[in-house]
Amino acid sequence: MAFQMDRASFPADVRLVRDQASGLEAAIVLHSTTLGPAAGGCRMWTYGDHEAMVTDACRLAEGMSYKNALAELPLGGGKAVIRRPEGKFDRTALFRAFGRAVEALKGNYITAEDVGTRVDDMSVVRDETRHVAGLPLRADRSGGDPSPWTARGVFLAMEWAAERRLERPLSDCTVALQGVGHVGAALAGMLHAAGVRLIVSDVDGKSAARVAVATGATVASVGSIVSAQADIFAPCALGGVLNHETVGKLKATVVCGAANNQLAEPADGDRLADRNILYAPDYVVNAGGIINVAAEYLGWPQTEAAARVEETAARLARVFDHAARSGLAPHAAADRLARETIAAGRTARRAAA
Ligand code: NAD
Repeated sequence: MAFQMDRASFPADVRLVRDQASGLEAAIVLHSTTLGPAAGGCRMWTYGDHEAMVTDACRLAEGMSYKNALAELPLGGGKAVIRRPEGKFDRTALFRAFGRAVEALKGNYITAEDVGTRVDDMSVVRDETRHVAGLPLRADRSGGDPSPWTARGVFLAMEWAAERRLERPLSDCTVALQGVGHVGAALAGMLHAAGVRLIVSDVDGKSAARVAVATGATVASVGSIVSAQADIFAPCALGGVLNHETVGKLKATVVCGAANNQLAEPADGDRLADRNILYAPDYVVNAGGIINVAAEYLGWPQTEAAARVEETAARLARVFDHAARSGLAPHAAADRLARETIAAGRTARRAAA
């Protein structure tokens, strides 16, 4: 999604957390609890300042509200962001303090992994609160690292987008993949297994090399991946990658990837549409992980999570149908559908009260 810091339409509950003993500095944002408790992962990142951390948490939380609504989950949207302490720090103490902050929200916020956090961090959080998912996998129940689920949803969306825009199967396409971390590496494996040609890039050269060896991918430099000669560009690193500079450089005619907040601003979604580039809205295609998190938290069987992830392409098709009917670009059509879904939930709640 594209973020606009429009405070009037941003009724978020922003909690700032500091714990001197562990060095924790975090923001937990509850953007919407209309459809259920605010759910969204916990990101740990190096932010230049406090404001940058809060802004990122707000934009990610809003995206989670829309993602959860369109994935038809009984969840609102929220996000936690931890400012990575400088130098060495006690990771266990930090995540225990974060767990206490989550517990203080009494189930109104449910956390899980995101960029910079791992399954073992969530196990530490679990020592302080039960409002956490993405815990180690146990037999016969949902859980574990959500990344492969996210990758599976992106893969299905990409198959659909290739047929729609390129009129050929994904196996006949070249994909330029930016970021081969948890999701990107899993997605690369799936694409390779499907016979797709791959170009990969990562600021961590070792990760890029490892994936290249495993998949036969070509490695591109960090600066050139956006303009790589590919059919599909798959952003799987950080947000804001589609902006007034990069959109014009794209050679791909489909953009479909896992990264949250890919559009730097809504106008970039229009720029993509003007160039006849199919943009698969990020939060529509990357919901696989939160679907698995929801299944774990709500006690749904793994089969239910899997079935819902398999519907990713159908949900994307609905967004494009809406875009065609309304004349909106896909990113705007998705935002409108999500807001309508949340508003309908609000109306239903009022009627039931
Ligand atoms: P990750 O931290 O495991 O991987 C991110 C990778 O991107 C890292 O390897 C990093 O080195 C690389 N990277 C960072 N900046 C880069 C750049 N400029 N160019 C190339 N590579 C760069 O994170 P992840 O869990 O794989 O998530 C990736 C993206 O997908 C994030 O935006 C995240 O919010 C989003 N997402 C993840 C999930 C999930 O299930 N993990 C779910 C939904 C959305």
